[in-house]
Amino acid sequence: MKDPASPRLKFEVLCHGIFPSDAALATLPINRGGKVVVRDYPTTSGLILRLPGDLYANARLRPDHPEHLPLDHDGVRFVLRSHAGAIPVDVLPPPQYALESRRLRSGKSIRMVAMTHADRVRLTPLHGCAYHCQFCNYPPLAYRQNTVEELAEALDIALADRILPHPHVLISGGTPRAEEREYTFLNQVYASLPSRFPTLKWDLMLAPRALHPGRHTRRTYGNFVQRLRAWGFDALSVNLELNDPAARQRHIPEKDAIGRENYLLFMELAVEHFGPGKVRSVLLLGLEPEEDTLQAVDALARRGVLVELSPFTADPGIFLARYPEPTVEGMESVRERAIELTERLGVPMQPFCVPCSHNIV
Ligand code: SF4
Repeated sequence: MKDPASPRLKFEVLCHGIFPSDAALATLPINRGGKVVVRDYPTTSGLILRLPGDLYANARLRPDHPEHLPLDHDGVRFVLRSHAGAIPVDVLPPPQYALESRRLRSGKSIRMVAMTHADRVRLTPLHGCAYHCQFCNYPPLAYRQNTVEELAEALDIALADRILPHPHVLISGGTPRAEEREYTFLNQVYASLPSRFPTLKWDLMLAPRALHPGRHTRRTYGNFVQRLRAWGFDALSVNLELNDPAARQRHIPEKDAIGRENYLLFMELAVEHFGPGKVRSVLLLGLEPEEDTLQAVDALARRGVLVELSPFTADPGIFLARYPEPTVEGMESVRERAIELTERLGVPMQPFCVPCSHNIV
């Protein structure tokens, strides 16, 4: 079945980026350095645009890209100047607390702890990471913990500075070292934060793990996901990212060591405990052949997992900074085939929430 709402403009924004005119810059809020964006994870370091059709897109500022779309302001509203004319868009700038790089009581910059994208507040218990995924800018960062108190304080600030109503929370950030002390710290975060803010919806992004390090079995996975549910999480995000064994070994070595089959087992058990539509998995586009991506789509959808396709972004801060990015046509092709496949398997590619789909296709 053909996709009814064409996301071509969104793909162009994701692939080619935008650049604001002087009129747009004069309207957008800026930080002390005059910047309108906040440096963040590669797929979230941009302005979030709401495009016609209620499509959200993370728009990187790419003045050097020959096909970037100019973002202008005509005195009344923002417009994207595309080959189809001036297209009215809404711009969701970063939250004020991030532009001001507010500090917590501990003296830490809030940007190491929380960041809002559209209606989602991301909390980061671990800044830095024990893993070395080649498309990520976390590995070179110093590995640091943020305490439960810092996370709760940052969330309070973020809730008072909301971009859209009805925010929800995603706990993500770095993956812990496989040490008991690190796991205990994160277990405390998971066990205490959702219950302190029980009216919010909580989503947790993590790699397959058990309560303690080193135990990857059906029983230990099952016990852990059951516990996450009891602690108040509403949904889980477990990103398979790549399917091809060679690509996994090269680009995500630690995740490859856990094993593709263990990823699928963990998600299967998570669907059992959280229910259909409550477990999602990102697949990265552009780092392996389309057929591999589609094999992964099939394996995930058969287990009741929501598939999210996210284009690889050659951010200057990552190992793959010079690797070619996927094209608009490549995204269109794989998305169309993935839609067909997931609909046939009864797990259509609906994002968890619409604004959160700003970095997926
Ligand atoms: S697990 Fe990989 S993608 Fe996630 S933060 Fe660590 S290095 Fe980045």
